[in-house]
Amino acid sequence: MSALQPLIGNQSLRARLYKAADEQRMHHCFLFEGPAGIGKAAIALHLAMYVNCLVEEEGPRGLAFHKPQRPCGTCRSCQPILAGSHPDIIQVGPDPSKVTRIITTEQARTLINALSLQRHSAKRRFVIIDPVDALNEEAANALLKTLEEPPAGTQFILVTSRAASLLQTVRSRSQRVRFGPVGQAEMIPWLEERKLDPRLATLSMGSPGKALAMAEGGTELAEELLGALCGAIGQPVYQLFAFTEGLGKKAEGGAERTELVLDLLEELLRDTVLVANGQARHVLHGNQLGILQKWALGLYPGGVGRMMGGVANARDRLRLNVNGRVVLEALLSQLNLELSQVRA
Ligand SMILES: [Zn+2]
Repeated sequence: MSALQPLIGNQSLRARLYKAADEQRMHHCFLFEGPAGIGKAAIALHLAMYVNCLVEEEGPRGLAFHKPQRPCGTCRSCQPILAGSHPDIIQVGPDPSKVTRIITTEQARTLINALSLQRHSAKRRFVIIDPVDALNEEAANALLKTLEEPPAGTQFILVTSRAASLLQTVRSRSQRVRFGPVGQAEMIPWLEERKLDPRLATLSMGSPGKALAMAEGGTELAEELLGALCGAIGQPVYQLFAFTEGLGKKAEGGAERTELVLDLLEELLRDTVLVANGQARHVLHGNQLGILQKWALGLYPGGVGRMMGGVANARDRLRLNVNGRVVLEALLSQLNLELSQVRA
């Protein structure tokens, strides 16, 4: 999503952020949390542009009473930010050379070094760490002091859709800003403007990013994996292991597929709670109703809670660089065990 695209949802929250920026009373380290794909990172970048925009200094001075729109997207500050080349707007994401989604200690050290230098030209330097839950413990520890007391004129924005799995030490040093899903009333016109199916508003659970991915056929892989996963669950161990082996190696995108399987398991568990409470019509994966009914009988409520814990634990282990296949095999075995105890 481009930083200049109109932002939707969370209007009053955004208004408060921009007001705080205008009045120069932003907390030095924000934690942007909320569901994936609702535009948290886009808002972070937009805020960086807004704060640094030079249109009022540089722009044409014709009508003095006509306040120019910020960010303008064309000034000496906005342009390099849009191009991703502004030296003072630093975006940190997972190391692409790693098997799992991880921000390494080395990346943290590089950042600290960069911050020890003077700002180039920005009014305020921004560091956007997305997703901050990808920081491993050592990298997070290396950053703690900087998060607590950043160099003058430096703004941190930490972005996560998994605040619960964030290290307490990181959470306690930041000010939480909680974004919610985008409401139907805003989302449906937004979809229609893009000639997209308005039903995506519900299917994506109010997440514009997810809706776009779904519209672009990004769900095909998910559907395929979901079918394979549901086929493997409850089967003998060798079939489970055939499924995890089939996910492929790092070079073939195995890490992303492992993450996707964890996302799917979480969605199925949430659906199970809905089915158990007579809300089957609201489930995300209506095509797996047979499995969901079995889980609702067998896992709800204790087993669902334990499996949710299992998924969170699996994510933690992936961050510690444990092999994705090992992590998934342990998790799926746990699920099989939970289900078999019911039958006995
Ligand atoms: Zn500008």
